[in-house]
Amino acid sequence: MILKGIDVLFSNVIKLSHAIFQQVVKPGDVIVDATCGNGKDALFLAQLLQGKGRLVVYDIQQEALDRAKNHFENHLLIEERRIIEMKLCSHEYIQEEGAKLFHYNLGYLPNGDKQITTCRASTIASIQKALELVSPSGVVSIVCYPGHEEGAEELLCVDQLAVNLDPSKWEVCTHYSVNRKKAPRLFLFRKRQD
Ligand code: SAM
Repeated sequence: MILKGIDVLFSNVIKLSHAIFQQVVKPGDVIVDATCGNGKDALFLAQLLQGKGRLVVYDIQQEALDRAKNHFENHLLIEERRIIEMKLCSHEYIQEEGAKLFHYNLGYLPNGDKQITTCRASTIASIQKALELVSPSGVVSIVCYPGHEEGAEELLCVDQLAVNLDPSKWEVCTHYSVNRKKAPRLFLFRKRQD
């Protein structure tokens, strides 16, 4: 269900990120899902692209890409699937210059191996690359999960990066439920037009 109006702000950060994708993504755009996982975010992004443009998804686990492919086959038309490129590769190697959106949903594969999780060093390296590659007025979105050990460290690193972004070049905001311990947190970085 897509929430509208004020309910979006009080919903979880995944629904909020999807509401933001609806504003940012247009058919014909190049979009990167840097952590494909089960493909739920990517499915939503593919639907917004309507078979036009490119959706490039990254994951280091073949199991994740297999599950995502299955999810796409069950929910997308052939024309909508045609624009999806699946890369079994770390998001440190993103190279999609001019992409409108780079999305990171950090952590481990739900219902998968919890030991295989995104790690602060490669996550920060990848986000820094995304900041260079993203188009003017394009967005880098990051969902962090401080409920597990590496996720808590990763959140601190993303927050540190966020607060140090030059405000003349970047609009930066963050959203989380402040009265919930270890609540997931969404960061949004939008590149200002030159
Ligand atoms: N966006 C997914 C969805 O909607 O189903 C959920 C993503 S899940 C929370 C995080 C994923 O990041 C896992 O599948 C994990 O394998 C992947 N991952 C971990 N390190 C990575 C890396 N360096 N590059 C790309 N993906 C990575």
